[in-house]
Amino acid sequence: MPVDRPTARFSLSQEADMTSTNGAATDWAKRDARVVQHPHGNPQDPERLVLVRGKGSTLWDAEGREYIDAHAGAWLTQVGHGREELAKVAAEQMSTLAHFTIMADFANTPTIEFCERLVERAPRNIAKVRLMSSGSEADDEALQLVRLYHHRRGQPQRTKVLVLRGSFHGRTYGGAELAGGRPGIGDVPDNAITLTPPWPYHTELFGGENLTDFCVRELEETIARVGAKNIAAMFGELVMGPAGMIPAPDDYWPRMVSVLKAHGILFVADEVVTGFGRAGAWYSSLDYNLAPDIIVLAKGIASGYMPLGALLLDANVADVLDGAGGGGSYAGHLVAAAVASANIDIIERENPLEASRERGRQFLDELGELINLPVVGDVRGRGLMVGVELVSDKATREPLFGRFPSLRKDIDRFLRTKHGVIVGIHGGTIALTPPLVITAREVSHVVDAVGDALARVNIHTG
Ligand code: PLP
Repeated sequence: MPVDRPTARFSLSQEADMTSTNGAATDWAKRDARVVQHPHGNPQDPERLVLVRGKGSTLWDAEGREYIDAHAGAWLTQVGHGREELAKVAAEQMSTLAHFTIMADFANTPTIEFCERLVERAPRNIAKVRLMSSGSEADDEALQLVRLYHHRRGQPQRTKVLVLRGSFHGRTYGGAELAGGRPGIGDVPDNAITLTPPWPYHTELFGGENLTDFCVRELEETIARVGAKNIAAMFGELVMGPAGMIPAPDDYWPRMVSVLKAHGILFVADEVVTGFGRAGAWYSSLDYNLAPDIIVLAKGIASGYMPLGALLLDANVADVLDGAGGGGSYAGHLVAAAVASANIDIIERENPLEASRERGRQFLDELGELINLPVVGDVRGRGLMVGVELVSDKATREPLFGRFPSLRKDIDRFLRTKHGVIVGIHGGTIALTPPLVITAREVSHVVDAVGDALARVNIHTG
């Protein structure tokens, strides 16, 4: 008996859309395709959106078409686009002194001020800051530092690292090591031990047990099996971002971290995404009442106006690591520090942290109406890290794009061309992560657009 294979169709409306008008964007797109390689781009079917200008949560492309930015250029433009105040600070600092290394005994005033401000807002155990140029670099540095910490304390065999399955901690070889390897790049040291991700929608992962009880027991069993004396640290995204904007239950991190502390295993909170208001607080570590040994920051730390990353170090960890390696030519860049300080000024003045929580709640309320659509499995979020997980079958929770990969592009293109909305799609999830200054009206527009797109996905089983 032949088995009927399900098919999926995406019905496009016949109404006029926002397709090309004067060809400027097409020319740029062709030039781009000749010389620029795009990580995660599709070389067989390039479809570039050439952006030229931004203000608040609005972006314009090379032909003047307007978009609502529900992406924030990799989840980082916290204070919105086009802030002249930040441009002025950068210009002033650049014409005064652009950069001089902070390695060895060199120091500079913007960096001192900025680090003071980072520490003032951090959990109370945090005493010192190391500056880097990106989140990947900062995660890589954290991986080196946790081992060096134990090495200096006479436990050099502590090299294993606990991570959540599907988590992301950067693009370097250290990041690949934490991911348990990446296809085609050769072997990486086999040091990552994976734990079940705290993903409430996927109850099948926990075999009917309470999620946190299951995960804490798994952690304790893993430590017993591997031996605490061999484990340097656990790395955790406090809300898993690239895996699909997945907040853990409130008791998850406090309970996990207390087990780690009891075994002398360091905890590295990867707050590259969650920090600086994206998940509704300066640091999500504060929301969960955690005292991480290291907090890794990037993205929103300078709202993307400068490439910048940082490690916040617990006082004891900082003492042990004093003077140790790392850094880099651009660490402590004066322009980056000055702009990042001005970014803090804006956050303090306008309080987008509260806006992030309010607009996040609005997203969840309004998106909640979509849960009855056949392809919407889950709607979740914390602050402005909002995810709509798409499934091909609600009973099995199978990812929609696993079965119908071409729908991913259909949905993305439709949102841009028909509704002027830019989103990110990660794994099986539509990620809604706009600048924190997005307005209530814009949120509703994004929700309507996503609802319209998802209502057009029809899966036929016969
Ligand atoms: N950590 C997490 C949780 C991330 O999501 C990312 C990037 O998306 C990184 C680290 C790497 O940061 P960057 O892109 O600044 O290198």
